[in-house]
Amino acid sequence: MAMHDHHEHNELQDAVERLKQSGVRITPQRFAVLEFLVNAKSHPTADEIYKALEGKFPNMSVATVYNNLRVFREIGLVKELTYGDASSRFDYTTSKHYHVICESCGKIVDFHYPTLDEVESLAEKVTGFSISHHRMEIYGTCPGCKVTH
Ligand SMILES: [Zn+2]
Ligand SMILES: [Zn+2]
Repeated sequence: MAMHDHHEHNELQDAVERLKQSGVRITPQRFAVLEFLVNAKSHPTADEIYKALEGKFPNMSVATVYNNLRVFREIGLVKELTYGDASSRFDYTTSKHYHVICESCGKIVDFHYPTLDEVESLAEKVTGFSISHHRMEIYGTCPGCKVTH
């Protein structure tokens, strides 16, 4: 019986495995936060996650959500995105990708493009730095915001 052939379900199972391997205890709340992140096609803020789950876990606080996100970040399951002074958004990371950001509503959409490794090696060569990483963000107006203009 193929019980786990659903794509997102597999991804969730993988994430749970990674938590277990890192020795992280899986509480129902932690599982719910993880599930929300894996299934989220957006890049939610801690507040959005909290609002989505507070009905299910009335005793959960925003701090709990933050704590879980910190645990996930520390083991590399999620990436914390900080763009400008808006509150952090969280991205369940499967593969490296860039982000296209709406300047009107702050929506972040994944954009898959080969990582610009050659830029890093050139920067290293030219400056003598040891390059650790780079950031590239693309800004514009999302389709939803374009309509209302
Ligand atoms: Zn927008
Ligand atoms: Zn992303």
